Amino acid sequence: MKQITLTINEIPVSVPSGSTILDAARAAGVEIPTLCAYEGLKPKAACKLCQVIVEGEEKAKMACATRVKEGMRVTTDSDELFARRKALIQEMFRQHTVDCHHCLRIGSTRAEHFDPKFCESCFFCDCVRDGFCELQALALRFGVDQLPFEIHEHDFGMDCSTGSVLRNMDKCVRCRRCVEACQGQGVGILGLRRRKNGQTVAATSDMLSDGCIRCGRCVEVCPTGALYMAEHKDEILYHAHQYGTKTSALLFPDAVRPLEALYGERFSFGQLAAALKKIGIDRVYDGGSALALSRAKAARLLDERLGTGTLLLTDNHAAKAFLQSRFPERSAQFAFFDSPLQCFSAALRAEQPGTKLIAVGGENAFGAEAAETGAADYFVNARELYRILLRSGGAPAKRIPVEAEALPCDPVPEGYAPLLADIPWSLREGPAEVSVLRNGGHFRGLICRNPQQAEKALQEAEAWDVIRVLA
Ligand code: SF4
Ligand code: SF4
Ligand code: SF4
Repeated sequence: MKQITLTINEIPVSVPSGSTILDAARAAGVEIPTLCAYEGLKPKAACKLCQVIVEGEEKAKMACATRVKEGMRVTTDSDELFARRKALIQEMFRQHTVDCHHCLRIGSTRAEHFDPKFCESCFFCDCVRDGFCELQALALRFGVDQLPFEIHEHDFGMDCSTGSVLRNMDKCVRCRRCVEACQGQGVGILGLRRRKNGQTVAATSDMLSDGCIRCGRCVEVCPTGALYMAEHKDEILYHAHQYGTKTSALLFPDAVRPLEALYGERFSFGQLAAALKKIGIDRVYDGGSALALSRAKAARLLDERLGTGTLLLTDNHAAKAFLQSRFPERSAQFAFFDSPLQCFSAALRAEQPGTKLIAVGGENAFGAEAAETGAADYFVNARELYRILLRSGGAPAKRIPVEAEALPCDPVPEGYAPLLADIPWSLREGPAEVSVLRNGGHFRGLICRNPQQAEKALQEAEAWDVIRVLA
């Protein structure tokens, strides 16, 4: 592909033709602030924070939506640009329910400013995104600590109709990431809509429950506390401390990195397991062993059905809902198996009835699964776990590591490894073709990262022996 050479803040950089100024800046190691841009989603130039100066152009250009040209000279930072960006961020708070930035004691809610001595008994500042919020991070970076106007409430209200994926549109900045993510899931029920009190993002029939498959991907991409999973800090601590109640945690390794980022220090999986025990969780299990249980189940199902026509293979509750509602005529091809959480939950509850199960992981979509399938009593993401640990003095780095337990399970046959590998959900990457070698046969597999890819793959379904849908 043809390369285009330009300069960003006097730094020369070459990028493929068709790249945006934002792509080129990232390639040059220059950071341009953005709020609506998200890897894998189409540029929208909605937040206008990425505006830059292009030599010879009268008006500022949006870096996310402007293609590079040969010899272009771009400036991404100046006092004028800083002031414009600050004004834009201030404006985003004009109609925003601010639940952070309250604390007079510490003056900030940045993770590194939390003080366990005070915060564990307060958390008045608590918003579901506090410490992970891109708007909050921008406000802190651009010094938006006082607003030159009064905040007006939108009063768009809450939508809790799904019971798992919750919406508080009074925290929405109308970046439209969720709109595209939902389209990418092949569902497309979200859109920018005009209401009597202003513009907002809403579902087609106002209630998310009407059409939503509860995949949780809109929560994954939302930069603020507008979309989130229900939290359960108090119930978890209550059960952990209650005499006579048994509690078990299923700890997935992807919880470690975001939690380390909040603490600003490194610790191991074993130390995090020890921290969970410290707060009163009786037993901690390795999420990897739950994955193995689920993969073994998939392998048994494939052994029975591979070679009998195209199979639609998934363990994801949202992908199951999508396929059932869109392709009921293909129900004979459905090869649904239990997810890691469901497999583990069934095994644990058979062995230890009455145990409260808490799933701990990095991906918010897991929260939707826990609520939708009932496989876990509670799901906790890293942000919520951070607050639980702060409240109960369980800092992982101070713990002596313990080994997480595992439930026994059958090994997965090697021939299935590429098809059943642990592949992350993605909006930007295409489907992956894989070969399945099993029982002396060679089968063609396709891994679709979201339901929309599966919908396309089904147009040429006969080309595949098995289509795995991750969602
Ligand atoms: S959405 Fe972000 S800026 Fe708004 S209250 Fe929550 S943490 Fe603060
Ligand atoms: S949970 Fe999934 S289907 Fe529901 S609104 Fe969000 S992206 Fe769309
Ligand atoms: S709900 Fe979140 S992702 Fe959707 S437009 Fe509002 S801020 Fe953006």
